[in-house]
Amino acid sequence: MTENGYVITVREQRPFWAAFLVLGTLTAAAFVALRTLGMGAHLAGVLYAGLSTATALAVPAAVWRYRPDGRTGWLLLGAGQLVPPGEVAFPGAADALHLAQYPLVAAALVSFVRRRTPGRHIPSLLDAGILAIAAGLLSWVYLTPADRLVTVAYPVGDLLVLAIGLRMLLGGGARTPSCLMLLGSLVAMLAGDAAFTILGGAANGWDGFLWLLAYALLGGSALHPSMRRIDDPAPVRAVPSTPARVVALAAASLLAPVVLLVQYTRGTTRDVPVIAVACALLFLLVLGRMAGLVAEQHRLAVTDVLTGLHTRRAFEERLRAVRRGRPLGLILVDIDHFKRVNDSFGHPAGDRVLREVADRLRAAAGPGVTLARYGGEEFALLVPDADAERTAQVADRLRAAVGGGPIELGTGVHRAVSVSAGTAVLPADAADPGELVHLADRALYAAKRAGRDRVVTAGQCAKVTRVPAEPEDWPTPLPRPRRTELEAA
Ligand code: GH3
Ligand code: MG
Ligand code: MG
Repeated sequence: MTENGYVITVREQRPFWAAFLVLGTLTAAAFVALRTLGMGAHLAGVLYAGLSTATALAVPAAVWRYRPDGRTGWLLLGAGQLVPPGEVAFPGAADALHLAQYPLVAAALVSFVRRRTPGRHIPSLLDAGILAIAAGLLSWVYLTPADRLVTVAYPVGDLLVLAIGLRMLLGGGARTPSCLMLLGSLVAMLAGDAAFTILGGAANGWDGFLWLLAYALLGGSALHPSMRRIDDPAPVRAVPSTPARVVALAAASLLAPVVLLVQYTRGTTRDVPVIAVACALLFLLVLGRMAGLVAEQHRLAVTDVLTGLHTRRAFEERLRAVRRGRPLGLILVDIDHFKRVNDSFGHPAGDRVLREVADRLRAAAGPGVTLARYGGEEFALLVPDADAERTAQVADRLRAAVGGGPIELGTGVHRAVSVSAGTAVLPADAADPGELVHLADRALYAAKRAGRDRVVTAGQCAKVTRVPAEPEDWPTPLPRPRRTELEAA
């Protein structure tokens, strides 16, 4: 279709979600009005059944209409709506169906979080588990024993779902209208459950109003065109361990012993097995969370933020782990005249060159080679089972790959960049890893002296002659702002 066609399509889509939201909210309002006035009980039941059925149909219809990549999450949310509506005796058999909604909604949210922040969803699940167990324990201990076996499941499910939902919104990724309406729906559901549990009959239909509002928001969320983007991957960044999060988790995990202590001081110790199990589970979850944090810290320590390559520390760990007697080639690569890039085009352009050089080295290095950012603009590679000749061949392949084409420094500005490399091998050149690094570094220095853009092996070092540097056509360095200019700005 033409551009016009696209515009028409978007206009067509917009009223659907808005209409669902508005009509859904009006239905909820009519429901609570009927209940408060104590009339039209049958009509109120019809309104409830109508909106929940409409939501159950709207979600799969939206999946069919927009065909999102991550349709599993949406279909699970739709499946969660298939609970038979209507008022039920409590606690009763229908609770099983109502409670089945929680795992479905939680699984849907986890599937979104997994795609929005790949590899970072486990900490959020653990956090949600810690909060849910804490809520479960409190409800268990303080609700009336008669109906708590079922009642307790509601706040646990609510908190589990809300914690994952909040993690989805706050953990990175686009906060689209669809995403916000979905979170609004979870909050309304939680508020409805809270009204139902705490107020019971005194809720006077407001619990139903909140549930219906949750349906209206869920339908609006699914029918909004931004539903396609709900699971777009977020840019990679570490999950911050904010003080608020640490305090919340600490409070939740200390809850079980505190409850026990309160009971002990009042001389009414009961539910000890439940408190002990909650205590053990919280302990294990916190331990899992800590293990995750340690693993994350290690990952950050061995991964260079700018290039994604191994850090020097990771490289040295690998070098130390090398088995004695096995041949090993080491290549040190240094970008030629890199300072000029920074001086002439600025630090961000320098960073861009570093990333591009790293990508080209990674592509040319091939499998089995360890590639690390060794220093500012210096890279190190370990080539397993390679003699001097093979190591020099790999080094020359890297040199050719970097110099293979100009690199974009900024919009429309391109420059050819070259690298020099020094190589040394175990055991032919050096007796141990320390000497290996020293010899490769000396060879790299010789390559620089010999005129750059070349590879020198440890064996060739002595024969390399010094070449006077050639003047190059580089723009004059960026002017540094003078003090008065800085003060004026
Ligand atoms: P040679 O050919 O002799 O290697 O010359 P060179 O200019 O490349 O070498 P020199 O060691 O003088 O300059 C290295 C520069 O790399 C100095 C430093 O400011 C810059 N640098 C180090 N780390 C970074 C970084 O992360 N980003 C940017 N943009 N520059 C960096
Ligand atoms: Mg350099
Ligand atoms: Mg250098």
